[in-house]
Amino acid sequence: MAMSRIVYVNGDYLPEEDATVSVFDRGFLMADGVYEVTSVLGGKLIDFDGHAKRLERSLSELEMESPLDRDALLAIHREMVRRNDITDGMIYLQITRGNPGDRDFAFPEPGSTAPTVVLFTQSKPGLAQSPQAQTGLKVISIDDLRWGRRDIKTVQLLYPSMGKMMAKKAGADDAWMVEESGLVTEGTSNNAYIVKGGRIVTRNLSNDILHGITRAAVLRFAREAQMEVEERAFTIDEAKAADEAFVTSASAFVMPVVSIDGTRLGDGKPGPVAARLREIYLDESLKTAI
Ligand code: PMP
Repeated sequence: MAMSRIVYVNGDYLPEEDATVSVFDRGFLMADGVYEVTSVLGGKLIDFDGHAKRLERSLSELEMESPLDRDALLAIHREMVRRNDITDGMIYLQITRGNPGDRDFAFPEPGSTAPTVVLFTQSKPGLAQSPQAQTGLKVISIDDLRWGRRDIKTVQLLYPSMGKMMAKKAGADDAWMVEESGLVTEGTSNNAYIVKGGRIVTRNLSNDILHGITRAAVLRFAREAQMEVEERAFTIDEAKAADEAFVTSASAFVMPVVSIDGTRLGDGKPGPVAARLREIYLDESLKTAI
């Protein structure tokens, strides 16, 4: 039987069955909370500072005070890796506006309600050797029906969750979300890229997409390797005519996409640009893992 995980709740490290939050927590009632997922490889945190900075920004955009500074956050992450004996896997962190003791649309008075801070671990031995990196993902396109502040990493994940189910029902692995104009925003839980004639195209940063931490690192490494990068919106039709495609996220790193709505890209196998970027990203981010 699997050993019970140790979960962090508001300063305590507890067995998961004893870790609880209030039914009045605004995360539960209003999805009034933000989260981060940081990968662990070889017992070390990947891109930790990027995730810590984005967390700060998400909190500040929602007028929530940050309950923990970068060093305190790092210490808790490391303690979670240690207590749960994580070699490869993920650390999930969530901060909500807390429990004001009742349900009310208005935010509680500043300083009156402590935020809720929860962390748990997911052990994924061999995370970087995922067999999907060899076969690639099949994606479908779906309408992007989310709200307009996708740059804030809120726990309001119902539509992305429905998107994964639509993909599953269609026999695919994931979905890319498309605006009325035909322009692709991103994947349900990743940033989306196409490659044409060696040039990498991914949507520019705005409120329309999450500012992926893996995206920032991958684009930096691509430019350092003299690869051509264009940050602009692309349509789903342009994507279907691309040589190759891929997605990035903290837990999937760089993952090739081999078909869109049943249209095969290139020869239907993971492309060389995605493979090279995956290798560079894993090599370089391991060097700076802490
Ligand atoms: N877009 C969305 C909608 C996501 O949920 C995620 C992953 N949480 C990403 C992009 C990728 O971001 P990151 O590289 O920081 O994991």
